[in-house]
Amino acid sequence: MSTTPDVYSAEPIPEAARVEIDRLLQSGDLFRYTAEADAPVTLLEQEFAAMMGSRYALAVASCSAALFLSLKALDLPRDAHVLIPAFTFAAVPSAVVHADCLPVLVEVGENYRIDLDDFAAKLTPDIKAIIISHMRGHTSDMKAIMAMADAAGVPVIEDAAHSLGTTWHDRKIGTIGAIGCFSFQSYKLLNAGEGGILITDDADLAARAIIMSGAYEHAWAKHGDMAKRCAHWQNKLPLYNQRLSNLSAAIIRPQLAEVPRRVRDGLANHNYVAEALNQTGILHVPEPLAGERRAPDSIQFNLIGVDDAQANAFATEAATRGVKVQIFGLSADNARAFWNWQFLGSQPDLPRTRAMLMRACDVRLPARLTKAELDAVIAALVGAAHAIAEPARAYGT
Ligand SMILES: *Cc1c(COP(=O)(O)O)cnc(C)c1O
Repeated sequence: MSTTPDVYSAEPIPEAARVEIDRLLQSGDLFRYTAEADAPVTLLEQEFAAMMGSRYALAVASCSAALFLSLKALDLPRDAHVLIPAFTFAAVPSAVVHADCLPVLVEVGENYRIDLDDFAAKLTPDIKAIIISHMRGHTSDMKAIMAMADAAGVPVIEDAAHSLGTTWHDRKIGTIGAIGCFSFQSYKLLNAGEGGILITDDADLAARAIIMSGAYEHAWAKHGDMAKRCAHWQNKLPLYNQRLSNLSAAIIRPQLAEVPRRVRDGLANHNYVAEALNQTGILHVPEPLAGERRAPDSIQFNLIGVDDAQANAFATEAATRGVKVQIFGLSADNARAFWNWQFLGSQPDLPRTRAMLMRACDVRLPARLTKAELDAVIAALVGAAHAIAEPARAYGT
């Protein structure tokens, strides 16, 4: 029997977190605004901003909260239309709804990137903001998107929840648009269970987001050189209280040093598996865009020349061999299939995105996997592909 690699467990949290958590438990100082200075959340913001080369960072409860606060910081009118990709996590249209805006869904191609023709067609004068989800780290053509957005005068928010460490022509993903949002949920590159952070170079957007995240009374005075900007917004904005706890920051901070290793190993693992899958002729991993350097902790590939029954059979065969494959459009109630976002009401169909989702497979591939474990994943996926391609041989004896 082949060994089945565990692709779900997270890496252990670095030992250094324990000392800091013990200190916090001793003092009971868990709220970010109690200490006079140097609270763990404040230090995390400073370190994250420095790592990304951004002027401001605001740590919050989740990436969803970061997206919501970004839209609020932009001061969009009620019912403003916000362009989002049709291939994203349900949290993204949800953040738009939460901010009293209306999402407009853009087609995504078989390479998981935004369809630029559909983007151009839907970037009408009604559109007041754009959220670009770099889904699973797949970066859309940010040069073309920023050119169109800038020409239209529409701000871009980057949903980089799952793209920390990805670069686009040597620029860090999340630093290209007006605001970048990241997640610290357990399946992302930095794991605190829950949490998120937004980064921006725009002082006014940062100040507004700081106040609305819950820097009430004069707590914003602890945001360093943002204090003066924040003072301007005192009592003028709602307080949505989406703050991060010191405990979460203490868990994230020692992981920042792990980012380069996780990025390097994740990419090497991905490319090793991709090469083997592409040789099957049935499983196809789309090429990265020129200038894109991803930081994957999972692999996506399309099933070529198969029908729904064969696609389902592939997932079953892979599961039998110990690897769970999720086909976005074929797994029940998938949160990344736009037709399941019934809370949006009726939406126009998006045939291109739909076709992609019906054949796009998702397999977790954490950076910590060994070569033997990667080989076991490859054997399972390639074996499953051969089984559905040659049913006579697979089922005949
Ligand atoms: C995980 C994820 C989110 C949501 O992040 P939370 O921190 O759980 O709110 C949003 N967008 C994408 C692309 C994600 O992968």
